[in-house]
Amino acid sequence: MTLRCEKAQALCQKDQAAIFEAQKLMLEDQEFIDRIQESIGQDKRTAVYAVLQTSEFYADMFLGMDDELMRSKSADIRDVSSLLVRCLSQGKADKKLLAPGIVVADYLLPGDLVEMGRENLLGLVVRHGSPSSHLAVLATGMNLPMVVCPDLDIEPALEGKTLAMDGGEGLLFIEPDSSTQTLLKEKAQELIYRKQVLASTGEELCYQGRRIELLANVGSIEDIRQAIQAGCDGIGLFRTELSFLGRQELPDEDELVEYYSQCLELMPDRPLVFRTLDIGSDKQIQGLSLPQEANPALGCRGIRFCFAHTDLFKTQLRALLRAAVKGRPALMFPMITSVEEVAHIKALLREAADELKQAGLPYRDHLPLGLMIETPAAVVLARELAREVSFLSIGSNDLAQYTLAADRENEALADRFNDRHPAVMKMIALTVEAARQEGVALSLCGELARDTQALPQLLETGLTRLSVSPSRLEAVKAKIRQLCKQ
Ligand code: PEP
Ligand code: MG
Repeated sequence: MTLRCEKAQALCQKDQAAIFEAQKLMLEDQEFIDRIQESIGQDKRTAVYAVLQTSEFYADMFLGMDDELMRSKSADIRDVSSLLVRCLSQGKADKKLLAPGIVVADYLLPGDLVEMGRENLLGLVVRHGSPSSHLAVLATGMNLPMVVCPDLDIEPALEGKTLAMDGGEGLLFIEPDSSTQTLLKEKAQELIYRKQVLASTGEELCYQGRRIELLANVGSIEDIRQAIQAGCDGIGLFRTELSFLGRQELPDEDELVEYYSQCLELMPDRPLVFRTLDIGSDKQIQGLSLPQEANPALGCRGIRFCFAHTDLFKTQLRALLRAAVKGRPALMFPMITSVEEVAHIKALLREAADELKQAGLPYRDHLPLGLMIETPAAVVLARELAREVSFLSIGSNDLAQYTLAADRENEALADRFNDRHPAVMKMIALTVEAARQEGVALSLCGELARDTQALPQLLETGLTRLSVSPSRLEAVKAKIRQLCKQ
């Protein structure tokens, strides 16, 4: 905080810098400190959670006041708490597990999971979360079982206890008896066996005479390997932001070129769609201090974030164009709401290519471009958008969130966030029709694509390309095969 005050004094007038002196006083406020300590000591919250909870309490209190000046203090409270949270996060040297285990937490961010890594991690149990959250998406991609248990009494109930879980059924067992343990082990073996058998068949899937392509959603090189093993037709969604999460320092252009080249070398003869950074909302980069937003899901995320951080975006674009000499990737852009955004993307791509040309670096230009259809605006404009690019991909997670006005991260709205809702299905059917009329390829890459119960309805719309996490490829294949026989 002192450093912040000094920096502010160097940057602005003394009376403006005094804001930070006032913030410093907040940090010394005994009531503020007591609340945080109480939350950690009595309620057994993590330090980060305690800081956030306490700051929200005070921010809300100030926001409810009549006086304008007092209301503005809520922003200071949030600012101070974000600084505290950053300090606390940087203090955590290494989140990796030293021995195999299930991680149980009140709340986890996608970045926490990335930092933990897959090694020794057997499963996740969280009290706050939802099956459609980015954390759940990431866990599925990592082939990691995750269970949400809102009523779980973490401490002291779990101390020293043996835990087992069934991610498929969403069940957590505390001190399971030996027959439950045997049953769960057999189920795990069966899953591994079925994956191996199905991956080795290399069959072509059809539905009503149409070839169905099954692609994979990935976020890392390890995911690509798994997808290949599971017999995918290509990568329909590479969530590139995942390799930025949980890092203090952002990767530079050369590091990204190396990373994307390795991915392409693994997939020389199948499509690989890199989605550019979808940062914002719950996907935050530690190395960037972004302002807190009141409604982050409706805020500066996806392409909006990239337009606001063109240096970072163009670094990624240049890296992708350079790596493209190793294969034939396609580029896809998230959170599109207008044709103007596409024009701006193309202008930035042009600049990126020109910069590479000037620097004399090898690159491949004119890559196939695609857009995520994940906002109602994009559905309504799907035909106009389709005319600008080679392909579209429906992001049903966000499309459901924005169509139903139900935050996908909010477990209290889990029953409202229904990606099989008739309104979402209608949005999908409209997009299929728009893509057909404009003659562009279309895929569905949200979690709905892996929902075997929704598959008949999805295939009936005319969809022929689905992209799912590697761990779900086998179940989706089996369902399509079964539908074919009916
Ligand atoms: C989606 O929104 O459906 C999607 C695939 O993107 P993400 O889950 O990464 O937001
Ligand atoms: Mg999305």
